[in-house]
Amino acid sequence: MLQKLIFATNNPHKIAEVKAILGDRRHILSLDEIGCHDDIPETADTLEGNALQKARWVNERYGYDCFADDTGLEVEALDGEPGVMSARYAAANGCGTGHDSTANSALLLERLKDADNRNARFRTAIALIADGQEYLVDGIVEGTIATAPRGADGFGYDPLFIPQGESRTFAEMSADEKNAISHRRRASEALLDLLKNENI
Ligand code: IMP
Repeated sequence: MLQKLIFATNNPHKIAEVKAILGDRRHILSLDEIGCHDDIPETADTLEGNALQKARWVNERYGYDCFADDTGLEVEALDGEPGVMSARYAAANGCGTGHDSTANSALLLERLKDADNRNARFRTAIALIADGQEYLVDGIVEGTIATAPRGADGFGYDPLFIPQGESRTFAEMSADEKNAISHRRRASEALLDLLKNENI
């Protein structure tokens, strides 16, 4: 029987993606499935810090091995912004409230309007706590920021992000095409490698 490993999320897409990669090795469960309905704080100032905060919360209170993720868009000309603030970039800068993708993208374009360097990367950090040990891995997809949004699929900054070697934005690609090269996919693969190499 496979040992349980909690993924500290209730996002069904994230759970399905991770199960496809790790499902042969561990029995992956969501927060709902262990009866965790907590509003888990994410107050750190790095992606790794937030991922660790969430994984520790679950491990300490529920006693399971657990991993958690946090993702940000890191733009070179903006010294890595919006980074850990990606979800609430506009709100954190006094434009609008909450998680507003349209306002976030508008602010990003405004801040890059005179920039020649439009290099950016999506980065997903994953923190794992297994057998009382903490581990960190990440997954990166490099690319550039378009000068205007393009495409109707995806979410967040997808209409602005052109992955390296592509002319389309993530929002112009099918979900399968994006998922095959995404930061989350690469972070999940790094987690699988970690489980194998550390014999977890
Ligand atoms: P989370 O850590 O997965 O919740 O991601 C934080 C924020 O980063 C999201 O609210 C989005 O704004 C942005 N983000 C994360 N992943 C993606 C992606 O695959 N495409 C576009 N934006 C993303």
